[in-house]
Amino acid sequence: MRTSAILPFIEQLKSAAYILIVTHKNPDGDAIGSSLGLSALLKEHGIKTCVVVEDSLPHFLMFLPQLEDVVVFNQFPSKVQEEMNKASCIICTDFGQMDRCGMIEPLIRQSKAPRLLIDHHPDPDQTAFDAMYHDVKASSTSELVSLFASEFFPETKLTKEMATCLYTGLVTDTGCFRFGLRTQTFLVASQLFQLGIDVEQIITSVFDSHSEQRLKLTGFTLLNKLVHLPEYRTAYISLSEEEMKPFDPRKGDTEGLVNYTLSIEHVRFGVFFNQKPDGTIRISFRSKGTFQTNDIARRFFQGGGHRNASGGVFSGTIEEAIQYFLSILPQYQEQLISLP
Ligand code: 5GP
Ligand code: MN
Repeated sequence: MRTSAILPFIEQLKSAAYILIVTHKNPDGDAIGSSLGLSALLKEHGIKTCVVVEDSLPHFLMFLPQLEDVVVFNQFPSKVQEEMNKASCIICTDFGQMDRCGMIEPLIRQSKAPRLLIDHHPDPDQTAFDAMYHDVKASSTSELVSLFASEFFPETKLTKEMATCLYTGLVTDTGCFRFGLRTQTFLVASQLFQLGIDVEQIITSVFDSHSEQRLKLTGFTLLNKLVHLPEYRTAYISLSEEEMKPFDPRKGDTEGLVNYTLSIEHVRFGVFFNQKPDGTIRISFRSKGTFQTNDIARRFFQGGGHRNASGGVFSGTIEEAIQYFLSILPQYQEQLISLP
């Protein structure tokens, strides 16, 4: 845990009139869950807050309580600027590089408000923050927000709504308690559970609230677009805009698709190439064990992330992205083959 300059910041935070919470673009369950949980905590302490994010939330997060705290930059840019002007502190959640918050980055950089980072991604940009509550060993930023609450706001009452948001972050980032776990993860989960959350409702809302079309898109992808390279213990899938169109995809409909690659026996590295409406190729990397996908994302695809879950981008066609990837893969063959 790196908690640089945190104590003086907490004093400032507690006496702040208005705090802005910013999370990363293309927000996931942990980004929104941790931000809303933190927002609820600060409000319970008597501080006004607002959560800002570049683009809209996937539909499966729309069940979360306190969604009215969120302002989406793409929909209300001037409102985000207004909120930014009011903020006496900014808390950045679930990202360590400023470009991850997209078009909100310049607004944050212009603001004079001091910045705190709460995050679990490797190698945060230390120059971008005045204080950090950071731990790569944490399963999720939501886990860190729970620990932050116990450590610095022990007198503040935690509510069921707060716990619902934080538990959502925990289950989404850990794939329902499958990866990135440590003892504190379960301690935090049990504390949140004690607050009376409805776990079944959370799981149903996040994982079982999809459209029929999404399930068929998954079927189409696995049947037609899965490539298994046993000699590299790698499997990849790809989806172009054209291929997705008949399934009328909604935002978030390809979320989790990449994980199927790792369900093949012996596969340790899984990749998903996905063409976005603007034509760019988004790439998701997943691995099992010590194989560092974030190293590949950083070196070759202008991205980054965690060891076992990272992402990046490619400019060109999907075929070119795949060819480029295949040209890189041999350098990693020895490492992949020798993984347990
Ligand atoms: P996903 O594949 O679900 O989009 O992303 C998996 C993880 O990779 C995210 O939680 C995030 O930590 C990281 N990630 C994805 N895209 C990027 C990117 O472009 N830059 C960086 N630094 N991290 C990314
Ligand atoms: Mn996270």
